[in-house]
Parts: sequence; C-alpha cells; structure tokens
Amino acid sequence: MSRYWSPFVHGLDPYVPGEQPRIDKLIKLNTNENPYGPSPRALEAIRNAADDTLRLYPDPQASDLRAALATHHGVEPEQVFVGNGSDEVLAHIFQGLLKHDRPLWMPDITYSFYPAYCGLYGIDFEPVPLDPDFRIRAHDYLPREDARAGGIIFANPNAPTGHALPLNEIEQIVRTNPQCVVVIDEAYVDFGAESAATLVERYANLVAVQTFSKSRSLAGLRIGYAIAQEHLIQWLERVKNCFNSYPLDHFAIAAGVASIHDTEWFNDVCARVINNRETLAKNLRELGFEVLPSAANFVFVRHPERDAAELNEALRERAILVRHFAKLRIDQHLRISVGTDEECAALVHALKEILG
Ligand code: PMP
Repeated sequence: MSRYWSPFVHGLDPYVPGEQPRIDKLIKLNTNENPYGPSPRALEAIRNAADDTLRLYPDPQASDLRAALATHHGVEPEQVFVGNGSDEVLAHIFQGLLKHDRPLWMPDITYSFYPAYCGLYGIDFEPVPLDPDFRIRAHDYLPREDARAGGIIFANPNAPTGHALPLNEIEQIVRTNPQCVVVIDEAYVDFGAESAATLVERYANLVAVQTFSKSRSLAGLRIGYAIAQEHLIQWLERVKNCFNSYPLDHFAIAAGVASIHDTEWFNDVCARVINNRETLAKNLRELGFEVLPSAANFVFVRHPERDAAELNEALRERAILVRHFAKLRIDQHLRISVGTDEECAALVHALKEILG
C-alpha cells in the first residue's frame, strides 16, 4: 500500500514515547509524569467548564491563559505563545524559527524529539557532544570563524541527564549568537534550574519553552507555551494558524489558568518531588549506582557492574517501569522518574533484590 504514501515519509524516524501500559499495580517511573495529582483548583475549573459552552469553539487566542502566564512571568500577553503540549509548541518553533541554510546545533544527548522534528521539516542539524560528565559546555556553542549556527536548541535541565546549565552560561550562548534563535526547552525547570524567560526582554533571539505536564501535573491535558519577544511570537502564530486554530480546548484553558493561580499547591508539589529525588539518589548511591546530579524530576543512573537493559527488564518483570535508551553513550544508563516516596522505596527494594 506504500504507493499511497507521500514518498518523504519513508525517510522519517519518529520519536518513540515511553509506554503507557495498563498493568495492575504498575509503578510507572518511565515518562517523568508528576506522581502527585494536579491542583484541586484546576480540577474544579475543568468541572465548571463542562457546560453547554462546549458546543462553541474555544478562544483561538487562549487569551485568559496567555494573560495569566504573562502576569506569572512578568511579560506581556503578546510575548506568550500557547500550544497543545510543549511538543506542539516545539514543532512550530522548529518549522518557523529553526529552519535555515546553516545547520541547527543541539547536544548529542538531549530530548530525542528534536531530531524527529528535523526529519519532519527537513532541517539540517549538527550534534554538539556533551562533555565526558554529560554536561553542556557553553563555549562549544560560541560561533567559530568556520562555523555559525542556524539555530540552537537544548533542554535545561537537559534530558535525560538532568544537568542544569547556569543562567549566566545560557546568556553567554544567547548573546554571542545574535545571528540565530536560541531555544531553551524548560520542561523540567521548576525542579531546580533558573528560567531563561527572565532574559527575554533583553534578547531578540531567545525563546524559553515550558509545559504544564511536569511541575503542574497536567500531562493529560496537553498545555505548553513559549515566552519570547513579540516579533518571534507573531511568527509562531503565523505557523500555528496554518495548522490548527484551536490547539487548546475549553478545559485546558480553564484548568491552565486555575493552576497558574494556585501557587501554594505548586510550591508544595515541587518541594515534595525535589525531596523525594534527593532521597532516591542517596538510596541508589548506597546500592552502588552512579547517579548524575539532577535538577529535574528524574535521575539518570548507571550501575558499574550491571547491564542497564537487563536491569530494565528485571524491573519490568516486577511491574516497575523505568526508561532505557538503546543509544550511543547512554545505553548503560537508566532514567528513573521520581515517584511518591512509596514508589521510590518500592523501586529501591526491587533493585536491592535484583542486585542480590
Ligand atoms: N521537552 C522535554 C525535554 C521533555 O522531556 C518533554 C516530555 N516528553 C517535552 C518537552 C514535551 O512535554 P509536553 O508535550 O508534555 O509539554
């Protein structure tokens, strides 16, 4: 049946999301979801939005949510772009801001959706190796006489490593590359890194992308956004309005606003995840794992004597899911999302058994 396919689809290499199986009593530490539920105010807003206005299309501008986000970040609503999860926001950014004659620079180890977007939109990219400790080195991204980036993207904290780059080093990359857009994907920023959204006022080429999926525990609702100067946001709007006029539905807009207003819940949940992360890291080190310092809601670990794929399988047999990437440089690592304290304790207990 392939004669019906658009030929270029043959060459695509799609992103593979972590599995979402329905297994009884599963401990799910494979997709960096928040183990705690969303803000009760967000749930209440969803219930209240379930009325007969659902027959109407949602606000194509999602004005209420953009206004709430603008206030939250101290920017103007015109400097906020929203989409159906940050994956969709990133897709529009790749197409609208990162496709140029010169290649896009990104770390060799980072969010594996970026190369998939490059394939989809025909963007040439150049992987920039992380250092041997899996850190981004800012000076690797400075323009050289023989090479200047057509765009730059990385996650901060990076995924799946969890490392955070300090804000002054991010600023150095943005400042020294005025010829291109620099995108900082801040999906995990609330668990311990500094947001580059505070720099947007000063840099015409900076975009910070965030999501409600992790720290706000609303992965199932699909809300992501970008903060940038108005000229970049207008460009993203142009792409979005050639794709889907209504990326956010009534529920997402209402719950998003309510979630942003619930600061107390937000601070509490982030603190609990950070606390669990540090306990988990300590317990894993005691079992002999090397644990990279993490500023995210996951830890990236390796056992010097045990094969990562085998550990992954042994955990799976005990209904505990973590993430293993069969990729160069990281195929002996596991990425483990931070769960509740009970889930983390069950994981550590299972690993103790497996390691004998
Ligand atoms: N960026 C990074 C680094 C991620 O790990 C994820 C989650 N897979 C996303 C973006 C996308 O998140 P969402 O589409 O749920 O906002």
